Amino acid sequence: MSTLILGGGVTGLAAAWHLQQRGEPAEVWEAQDTVGGWMKTLPWEGGHFELGPQGVLWQKDTAVDRLFSAIGLPFNAPGKGARWVGKGGRLVPVPASPFGLLTSSLMPFSTKLRLMLEPFIPVRAPEPEEGLSAFAARRLGPGVARELLPAMVAGILAAPPEVLSVDAIPKLLQWEATGSLVNGVRKGGVSHMVVPVGGMGQLPIKLAAQLPAVHTGIRATALEALPDGRWRTTGGGEVRESDRVVLALPAYEAAALLAPAAPVSAEALAAIPYTTVDLWHSRHTPLPQLKDGFGFLIHPPEGGGYLGSLVPSWMDPQSAPAGLMQLRSFVGGAFPRGADLDRWEGLFARLRGWIPELSDPAAVRHERAERAIPRPEMGHRGRVKAALAGLPAGVDWISNARFGPGVRDILEGLETWGK
Ligand SMILES: Cc1cc2nc3c(=O)[nH]c(=O)nc-3n(C[C@H](O)[C@H](O)[C@H](O)COP(=O)(O)OP(=O)(O)OC[C@H]3O[C@@H](n4cnc5c(N)ncnc54)[C@H](O)[C@@H]3O)c2cc1C
Repeated sequence: MSTLILGGGVTGLAAAWHLQQRGEPAEVWEAQDTVGGWMKTLPWEGGHFELGPQGVLWQKDTAVDRLFSAIGLPFNAPGKGARWVGKGGRLVPVPASPFGLLTSSLMPFSTKLRLMLEPFIPVRAPEPEEGLSAFAARRLGPGVARELLPAMVAGILAAPPEVLSVDAIPKLLQWEATGSLVNGVRKGGVSHMVVPVGGMGQLPIKLAAQLPAVHTGIRATALEALPDGRWRTTGGGEVRESDRVVLALPAYEAAALLAPAAPVSAEALAAIPYTTVDLWHSRHTPLPQLKDGFGFLIHPPEGGGYLGSLVPSWMDPQSAPAGLMQLRSFVGGAFPRGADLDRWEGLFARLRGWIPELSDPAAVRHERAERAIPRPEMGHRGRVKAALAGLPAGVDWISNARFGPGVRDILEGLETWGK
């Protein structure tokens, strides 16, 4: 069977890799001049920065571990690293263990007590779809849903949990299905953030190097059903006829291609919203209290559109030149933002509000991640179901909007996809 995969981000490339392992080699078309989609590590004087993902959640004997081992991708595993939540005007440490939560000042005693009841909360049937905030309030208590969840979710999806479906974070329902979240985490084990040596961009580069037919600079512009059940794809001066076409594309790109052949699918895909986020990379004199930490997220009502900052130089020591600490600050997403955050000076003033000791930057750069992150709002489950049900034979759509937001979700989804 001949397969054409559209999209050479991590989803398309990992899908092609899995097909190849099953003896079904596929051709990949990527619109940009380089592979990776959002997963790109770009050079920056004396180091580098990530365009998209900063790291991937790794655990022994999981899909991520299996893929990394199979393609021979070495990675840095920096360990747990301190993390904080910006709340009440200061950075409050997030405890590394459940026991630490009991003594933490992150939440009042009543909220902690309610949290401890989680293992005893009955499992709810997954239908009908539940909101993410409602899920957290039901299982972890309204205090956690109100005071802690918004910062955590802003750090993953750059959107408020009140508008999102619980399907936005697929692990939650998987864990609940084991009896409780505590049980799910205990059974599933804890993952750690790791970064391939040389940066996240090494993953798509390594995948592409092991695939026979990855073509960059070809944007598919039309998809047409042939009378014999095959598909004709056109784009960038190329025409390909194949038994199967796999759209490894953001929902809105897939919708545009599918509109003529699968209008119901296209309509459902076009209704999946995407979020834009601004990323500011900056280099500073290392601060003892921050340099060996993962970073911090701001409780959104206090952030006013500033979502938080990570410390890439801790996760990936090659990213910054020696003697400098690299930060990556997130702005905007689906939150209203102050006009001051359009400029570095405004963001820097906010950063200093949380970390008064932060030095003036040695270097700064800005990237806008336009429509980069799917926003699985309530009704997402129905939209994905309708999109998949409406696909004609021989066409499939795979994406983080289908499998889950993180690289781990995508790689787990692809291990069983199409089997
Ligand atoms: C700022 C940011 C930070 C993130 N941080 C993390 C993190 O720390 N950890 C984590 O696990 N995940 C993170 N993510 C999520 C993760 O990066 C994504 O889930 C993942 O990279 C999505 O990959 P993809 O291949 O599905 O999509 P994309 O990366 O969007 O790739 C799709 C590809 O399709 C191509 N394309 C589009 N249209 C066409 C066409 N018509 N023809 C041919 N090709 C086409 C595009 O050029 C693109 O290369 C982050 C994402 C962003 C944006």
